[in-house]
Amino acid sequence: MPECPYCGRWFKTKRGLNQHIAKSHETKFGGVRVLDPTTIDPLGAAERRAERKKKRKKGFGLW
Ligand SMILES: [Zn+2]
Repeated sequence: MPECPYCGRWFKTKRGLNQHIAKSHETKFGGVRVLDPTTIDPLGAAERRAERKKKRKKGFGLW
Protein backbone atom coordinates (compact mmCIF):
# COMPACT_ATOMS: atom_id res chain seq x y z
CA MET A 1 0.00 0.00 0.00
CA PRO A 2 1.43 3.38 -0.94
CA GLU A 3 1.84 5.67 2.03
CA CYS A 4 2.05 9.43 1.97
CA PRO A 5 5.58 10.38 3.06
CA TYR A 6 4.36 13.74 4.33
CA CYS A 7 1.46 12.90 6.60
CA GLY A 8 1.40 9.10 6.90
CA ARG A 9 -1.96 8.51 5.28
CA TRP A 10 -2.20 5.57 3.03
CA PHE A 11 -4.02 4.87 -0.13
CA LYS A 12 -5.32 1.96 -2.10
CA THR A 13 -3.62 3.08 -5.27
CA LYS A 14 -0.57 5.04 -6.25
CA ARG A 15 -2.83 7.30 -8.20
CA GLY A 16 -4.88 8.08 -5.12
CA LEU A 17 -1.69 8.93 -3.29
CA ASN A 18 -0.49 11.18 -6.08
CA GLN A 19 -3.83 12.96 -6.16
CA HIS A 20 -3.69 13.43 -2.42
CA ILE A 21 -0.18 14.85 -2.58
CA ALA A 22 -1.13 17.21 -5.39
CA LYS A 23 -4.21 18.34 -3.49
CA SER A 24 -2.92 18.43 0.05
CA HIS A 25 0.81 18.96 -0.04
CA GLU A 26 1.50 20.95 -3.13
CA THR A 27 0.89 24.55 -3.89
CA LYS A 28 1.18 26.57 -7.04
CA PHE A 29 4.05 28.95 -7.03
CA GLY A 30 4.39 31.04 -10.13
CA GLY A 31 2.47 28.46 -12.14
CA VAL A 32 4.70 25.62 -10.97
CA ARG A 33 3.66 22.95 -8.52
CA VAL A 34 5.91 22.92 -5.50
CA LEU A 35 5.78 21.08 -2.23
CA ASP A 36 4.20 23.11 0.55
CA PRO A 37 6.34 22.47 3.63
CA THR A 38 3.64 23.69 6.00
CA THR A 39 1.52 20.66 5.14
CA ILE A 40 4.15 18.15 6.13
CA ASP A 41 3.26 16.41 9.36
CA PRO A 42 5.96 13.97 10.41
CA LEU A 43 4.62 13.75 13.96
CA GLY A 44 1.17 12.90 12.74
CA ALA A 45 2.69 10.36 10.39
CA ALA A 46 4.58 8.70 13.24
CA GLU A 47 1.45 8.67 15.37
CA ARG A 48 -0.61 7.13 12.64
CA ARG A 49 2.06 4.51 12.10
CA ALA A 50 2.06 3.60 15.79
CA GLU A 51 -1.71 3.50 15.82
CA ARG A 52 -1.69 1.10 12.91
CA LYS A 53 0.72 -1.20 14.71
CA LYS A 54 -1.56 -1.32 17.73
CA LYS A 55 -4.51 -2.24 15.59
CA ARG A 56 -2.51 -4.95 13.94
CA LYS A 57 -1.66 -6.53 17.27
CA LYS A 58 -5.31 -6.49 18.31
CA GLY A 59 -6.34 -8.11 15.06
CA PHE A 60 -6.17 -11.75 14.20
CA GLY A 61 -2.71 -12.34 15.53
CA LEU A 62 -1.12 -12.71 12.15
CA TRP A 63 1.53 -10.14 12.92
ZN1 LIG B 1 -0.30 13.36 2.87
